[in-house]
Amino acid sequence: MMDYKPAPDLLKNRIVLVTGAGDGIGRASARTFAQYGATVILLGRTTRKLEAVYDEIEQAGYPQPAIYPMNLEGASPKDYTDLVATLNNEFGQLDGILHNAGLLGALAPIEHYDINLWYNVIQVNINAPFLLTRACLGLLRKSSDASIIFTSSSVGRKGRAYWGAYAVSKFATEGLMQILADELVENTAIRVNSINPGATRTGMRAAAFPAEDPNTLKTPEEIMLTYLYLMGADSRGITGQALNAQ
Ligand code: NDP
Repeated sequence: MMDYKPAPDLLKNRIVLVTGAGDGIGRASARTFAQYGATVILLGRTTRKLEAVYDEIEQAGYPQPAIYPMNLEGASPKDYTDLVATLNNEFGQLDGILHNAGLLGALAPIEHYDINLWYNVIQVNINAPFLLTRACLGLLRKSSDASIIFTSSSVGRKGRAYWGAYAVSKFATEGLMQILADELVENTAIRVNSINPGATRTGMRAAAFPAEDPNTLKTPEEIMLTYLYLMGADSRGITGQALNAQ
């Protein structure tokens, strides 16, 4: 991936939805997808942050994005069908989803893991991607080349003490990715994969590793090649794969 050279117009005329687009890796992904030509729908829970990303994209002269404030923790199934109806009206199709929004929860042993926090982490990290994907598949089928990207983690591939609901949700994310990829294996127009970003300089990483020097970590901007590769047509035919961004 290090020597992948995306064409400047890789994502031209594509409509791409990014969850958790207001901060961290989601913000960098949204800006990067827009830089390569995509019309990006910025979905997240903090409107002020989404507006800042919107302004950055507009000031850079990239295609005009759209903002869709939504709290994935409390969203009902109807909120998802409303979202899809809006996307259908505004754009008529969808060419990609980056499921990026995530909640760390707490680092705690299973025996003492706060029960409501467990439910919230599972809701945001795995139920929301299920609900969103389920609602969007009809729109994705209208695209001639669509990509669904799930966001995993090292602890979604091998369990580790105290990572609790977060790690369980990432294991489930890999499962959802594999199942959906298998269901769509005959459909060459929709590919489904996951990315483990690896240690990246964001608020979530700092919350999980408060003693770590953030300057030793890659920035979100530095891990974007894998995201571009999977979102664009160069990854056609790649499906069911678990990739690492670093
Ligand atoms: P950040 O905490 O920086 O960003 C997470 C984003 O998700 C924020 O924009 C946040 O919104 C949004 N979000 C959280 N909860 C909700 C919700 N209920 N509804 C809508 N949006 C929500 O984290 P990262 O950028 O580090 O993480 C991005 C993804 O990468 C996550 O899935 C994470 O698990 C994964 N990851 C990150 C690693 C790292 O080292 N950074 C390593 C491995 C995986 P708001 O800003 O408004 O709170």
